[in-house]
Amino acid sequence: MSAEETALRERMSELCASLFMRGFSVGTAGNVSARLSDGLLMTPTNSSLGNIAPERISKIDPNGNHVGGDRPSKEVFLHQAFYDTRADAGAVVHLHSTWATALSCLADTDPEDCIPPLTPYVVMRVGRVRLIPYVKPGDPRSGDLIRDLKGEYAAVLLANHGPVTTGKDLFSAVCAAEELEETAKLLVALRSLPTRLLTDAQVSELRNTFGRI
Ligand code: ZN
Repeated sequence: MSAEETALRERMSELCASLFMRGFSVGTAGNVSARLSDGLLMTPTNSSLGNIAPERISKIDPNGNHVGGDRPSKEVFLHQAFYDTRADAGAVVHLHSTWATALSCLADTDPEDCIPPLTPYVVMRVGRVRLIPYVKPGDPRSGDLIRDLKGEYAAVLLANHGPVTTGKDLFSAVCAAEELEETAKLLVALRSLPTRLLTDAQVSELRNTFGRI
């Protein structure tokens, strides 16, 4: 096993445990993947993010074959679709975190723009978030729905299911998942209150300064 793969397995195990310990994932919810130079690493099916031994993390080769570790999560289609359409995606994080999942269930969430620009950090780390129509977990159509976005979104909400974020590396994708969750919590907290969002000019300034995600 390459030094790159050994280090990424350890890092994934640590970051998944960190998400679990802080309540971003419960039970066996959620799955995480990251790109290697010779394939992907992905959390195994029916595993708790709280306790994944590095050597049990699944390895998938560039042709989509399972070549190491335990059997991968059934949401592998979803992850693969992001890698296929976003060349700069180094990792994908899917959670069932409470507040982002709440937004994915609310009838009046704007499907084109689920997370309005409430804070600069959600604009910088998450970007615009699309709602993906509901399909059952593990349905390969989830991959088709992500491919239809042509790589234009770094993060989505799966309707009545939960968030998916991407990042240039594993840490960035985890930070984006946390930022999305905390912003969703703020949005639900502010729902009945008059709220000042960032203006279009403020959002443009952020995109011009820090780049579009
Ligand atoms: Zn899920």
